[in-house]
Amino acid sequence: MTKVINTINDDILSENICFIPTMGAIHEGHLSLVDIGKETNLKTLVSIFLNRRQFNNDDDFKNYPIELEQDIEFLKSRGVDFIFLPQESYIYPSEGVPSIVPSKVGSILEGASRPGHFEGVLTVVNRLFDLIKPSHAVFGKKDAQQLFLIKDMVNRLDLNIEIIEGEIFRDINGLALSSRNKHLSQDAKLIAANIFKSLQKVAKEINLGKSFEESVELGINSFNQNEIDLDYLEIVDEENFNYPNKYSKKLKLLTAAYVENVRLIDNIDIEI
Ligand code: AMP
Repeated sequence: MTKVINTINDDILSENICFIPTMGAIHEGHLSLVDIGKETNLKTLVSIFLNRRQFNNDDDFKNYPIELEQDIEFLKSRGVDFIFLPQESYIYPSEGVPSIVPSKVGSILEGASRPGHFEGVLTVVNRLFDLIKPSHAVFGKKDAQQLFLIKDMVNRLDLNIEIIEGEIFRDINGLALSSRNKHLSQDAKLIAANIFKSLQKVAKEINLGKSFEESVELGINSFNQNEIDLDYLEIVDEENFNYPNKYSKKLKLLTAAYVENVRLIDNIDIEI
């Protein structure tokens, strides 16, 4: 039986919890993380909290899709134990909560395009960790830089929480599921599917031995041809998010782009 709660009480603190944080507008990507959580055989707790502090753009916050009733139905049908729906004043009480400043990786890519974003993310995740005291937490690889910074925070603050990573859940055309996809028309979804196809093209070129610069250039052309408005397309070493060097084994190709003015992010792993 799923319990919907607004505060964390001693009953929850007495359980070993696998925590899955979300901002709602639940889709199969979120639910795939729930399935991973359930495999731990711990009690699963999904939070839905639209965290104002991680939005650097007011309109983006105001337009973020909210579908609470449907969210609760989806989560119940997947057998989540607790759905946590906190009020803003519970997460951010007047006495304040510690702000968590990201390490330097927080200022590139998403951090460069969205100043303050990762400080907002880490601050709320740390606050939620502090309230819920989970033993495990599941995050999606869709937000690869966020995942990197959360693991870094767990290390830096010496938190005793195991971070579990969920693969990116895509639709049949390859478009990574995202709450923001709800703002896309059917046509735009087809255009947006070219984001993943472009990433795959770049990965293929790199595997064929083309230089990173040339491969990325091809990717940029592919975005342009499909009339996708690129914010960034960059390759990093998965270990540290630095530009890869000759010792790099696992790379990540990350992108942010606009389709119908909706900002979408995606990434792909490249093994060399
Ligand atoms: P959000 O509600 O966007 O804050 O996302 C909550 C969690 O779901 C984060 O850990 C995201 O990385 C993850 N997530 C979002 N979209 C996907 C997806 N398509 N596949 C896997 N995980 C996802």
